[in-house]
Amino acid sequence: MKSLVQHRRFIRAFGMYAVAFAFTALFGFLVMYFETPFVLLLPIALTIFGSLTLPWWLGAFVKIKVYDGEYREKIISRGKRCGIALNEVYVMEQSHANACAPGINRKCIMFTSHVFHAYPWEEIEALTAHELGHHGNKDPVFYTGAIALAFSGMSALIADFSQRFALGTTGFFIVSMVVSFVFFLALLAGSRWRESLADRYAILVLQKPIALAEFLEHELLREEEEQGVSARRAPQWFEKLWRTHSLVFERIASIRAAGAKTSRGKNVRGEKEGKPAESISAPHLVSGEK
Ligand SMILES: [Zn+2]
Repeated sequence: MKSLVQHRRFIRAFGMYAVAFAFTALFGFLVMYFETPFVLLLPIALTIFGSLTLPWWLGAFVKIKVYDGEYREKIISRGKRCGIALNEVYVMEQSHANACAPGINRKCIMFTSHVFHAYPWEEIEALTAHELGHHGNKDPVFYTGAIALAFSGMSALIADFSQRFALGTTGFFIVSMVVSFVFFLALLAGSRWRESLADRYAILVLQKPIALAEFLEHELLREEEEQGVSARRAPQWFEKLWRTHSLVFERIASIRAAGAKTSRGKNVRGEKEGKPAESISAPHLVSGEK
């Protein structure tokens, strides 16, 4: 039996694809209608505008608020220690743990309220380090650039293909669906890659990288309890394709393995930690079975 979370994940991925398809088809149509490549500047301008104003959209549609709770200063000073000046910390009411790092001009981190209610500082710090990794790796800029270029490139491709082969309306939509589907899969693969880099960043900056694995493990257990099914089975190959992150139990295993090495080595600034390795418990989570 599939969990509700898996269905939700699929529905969210399908929604993202539907948006990619709608915009690609729209811009492709506009290129053909106005017969000028200057229309291709429109998706670029819209993507940059959307990215610059993302916190505002989140505030308007998913009701995020400025976070002024007990961890605010700790989160901001954790950023400073990584050389990242956070402009704002936001919170959104939700009963599961999550966070994101929007902002190409104003660097922000948004947490769900469950993070602050259910986790000790050590694990909140680990999640903060992962989000700082997105800023440190310039992911908001990466996504804005990738999406802007992909939308204008796909629109140009579709318009050129439709005109070259004199496609009718049905052909135009089929080509738009195929092109945006390929782009969508590439974007998800890019997301999984950037997520693994953010995990890597967190491992390097944290005194106790294993706290990130512990946070993910707790959240996995909560999800399993809520859904009443195991989230640790090996998925079908196609299920992995529509994920924005690698599987949680796979992330836990690689953080544990990398964290063990890093604890014996250097942190991101090249300073010697001089601390003993964390004691690593058996990676029972990688078995894929309950
Ligand atoms: Zn992330």
